[in-house]
Amino acid sequence: MIRAKEYNIPNTFGIPACARHYVEYASEVELQACLPLKGPVLHIGRGSNLLFDGDYEGTILHSAITDITDITDMTETSETAADETWLHVGSGMVFDDLVAYCIGKGLYGLENLSAIPGEVGASAVQNIGAYGVEACQCIRRVEGYMTETGIPFALDGEACHYGYRQSIFKDSLCGRVAITYVTFGLSRRFVPQTEYGGIRQAIEASGLDIHTLTAEALRDIIIDIRRQKLPDPAVQGNAGSFFMNPIVARSHYEDIRRKWPEVPHYDVDGGHVKIPAAWLIEQCGWKGRTMGRAAVHERQPLVLVNTGGATAREVLDLCKAVQKSVQERFGIRLQTEVNIITSTLPQP
Ligand SMILES: Cc1cc2nc3c(=O)[nH]c(=O)nc-3n(C[C@H](O)[C@H](O)[C@H](O)COP(=O)(O)OP(=O)(O)OC[C@H]3O[C@@H](n4cnc5c(N)ncnc54)[C@H](O)[C@@H]3O)c2cc1C
Repeated sequence: MIRAKEYNIPNTFGIPACARHYVEYASEVELQACLPLKGPVLHIGRGSNLLFDGDYEGTILHSAITDITDITDMTETSETAADETWLHVGSGMVFDDLVAYCIGKGLYGLENLSAIPGEVGASAVQNIGAYGVEACQCIRRVEGYMTETGIPFALDGEACHYGYRQSIFKDSLCGRVAITYVTFGLSRRFVPQTEYGGIRQAIEASGLDIHTLTAEALRDIIIDIRRQKLPDPAVQGNAGSFFMNPIVARSHYEDIRRKWPEVPHYDVDGGHVKIPAAWLIEQCGWKGRTMGRAAVHERQPLVLVNTGGATAREVLDLCKAVQKSVQERFGIRLQTEVNIITSTLPQP
């Protein structure tokens, strides 16, 4: 176990923030030994979906559990689908390492989530998604401990109440749990998902045949598309999509379409439609615009970037300005996807 004081919290926005205490555990036994924890607790992964608005007066908790076990034979046969392998994965494992591991073992389902930064524990909190696939499609169980009491929990996929970037861990259990293991159900049959985000076009452009496409090739294509579209946090601080794509009533979408017939959309259900936030932001003229040392990315307007030395305040001011424009023009309130961690210390 690692314990430290005055800890610099890692975050891909590259905005400095300190915590009073830091505790990293490498096993459930180590975690149990430090629970219950008093005072504010924030469990982090790699900090790739966090924006710290100041220092954190409390304990930062981090999992260094990285083991993987095939538990297919240990589960009830009624639980696992015939062609599924169940992997019990430590929450501290880098998610993209898990994707690569699965493909290497001939286990499929996570390919489209290649190169999403962060760890396995956070993937179950955020229900990460990309290119038409969400983590919840493969998550079968989430285990951990309540940080306030030390009581263990285990929830099956359904009990996690997954939705678009939503879960019980962002709702009633928000800030109250330490996830130690996530169980994924992976298929032994590769069925490529190529309908979203220009994957099909990229396959054609690279001269590959969709019928003989391998999971490795699909992973390479996705990594390539992401590299071209998204800023690398090592070069320019960011936390991926700052805003969620809004889901609006169909009547609201129809009103927008009357004025902007080209508005892109995805049907969610009979009564609701998802509109890409990037399109709304671009229509408001924000693409590539800078405010202070924060900016709307020039290729992907969903991403707010730190152009160098930005404070959280500058990023949040830009966020508010973008939200105001979109609200005024389209009557839509953009919700943030990034977790904004408000300082618990008195502001100077
Ligand atoms: C360049 C870039 C591209 C991105 N692209 C995508 C994308 O395509 N799709 C997508 O969905 N996301 C994307 N993201 C966002 C980010 O990668 C995900 O949200 C990821 O899951 C965050 O992982 P993390 O380990 O860094 O978690 P953190 O940012 O550290 O934490 C995220 C949340 O999870 C909680 N948490 C983390 N670990 C645990 C644990 N073990 N127990 C309890 N709670 C925990 C935290 O408290 C917090 O609420 C992108 C980010 C970047 C920087």
